[in-house]
Amino acid sequence: MRVADGRDPFQVFHDEKFLGNSRFTPCTRVLKIIPCLRWLTENADPEQTTLYIGIDASTHDRRRIPPIATNWRPWRTAFPLCEEGEPALTKEELLDEARRMGIEPPRLYEMGYTHNNCGGACVRAGKAQWILTLKTFPERYAMAEAQEEEFRRKNGDYAILKEQRNRVVYPLTLRELREREQARQGANS
Ligand code: SF4
Repeated sequence: MRVADGRDPFQVFHDEKFLGNSRFTPCTRVLKIIPCLRWLTENADPEQTTLYIGIDASTHDRRRIPPIATNWRPWRTAFPLCEEGEPALTKEELLDEARRMGIEPPRLYEMGYTHNNCGGACVRAGKAQWILTLKTFPERYAMAEAQEEEFRRKNGDYAILKEQRNRVVYPLTLRELREREQARQGANS
């Protein structure tokens, strides 16, 4: 069973007139939570259903458990990667365990990404990951840059990334980040 809205994140940003960023991601709500909630409401009795959620045992991820469990009520949630009494495995150990079971992890992990999110073009990513995507998947970077430029033409001076200069926070566009990176590479060659 596959549950999908059908749009991609940038279509959602255009429709919602809100560009996703590291703190606010309408794509998560529209593309994941709402379709999943709708399907659960129609198909899954809360008394008979447990939702298994892949939160890992790192401190940073563990902090997400209470709000996630609250938000999915009345369905029961379980977090098998962080259960009491289970060894707290790192992401790398979990990936190794998957390999031992014959499941090949997504290739992004081998390419230096810490998450397998939207093919390396996740709006939650920081500058370092976007530069990695510029090098690894230039066509995906170009798509995201073009979509961001279109959003800016329609809605104003917004950007996925931001940057602080002299204690003032500015939007940092993918276009500016790419031009800077290309200038830096040109200077080093
Ligand atoms: S992975 Fe990132 S860009 Fe993709 S839907 Fe989730 S938050 Fe949005």
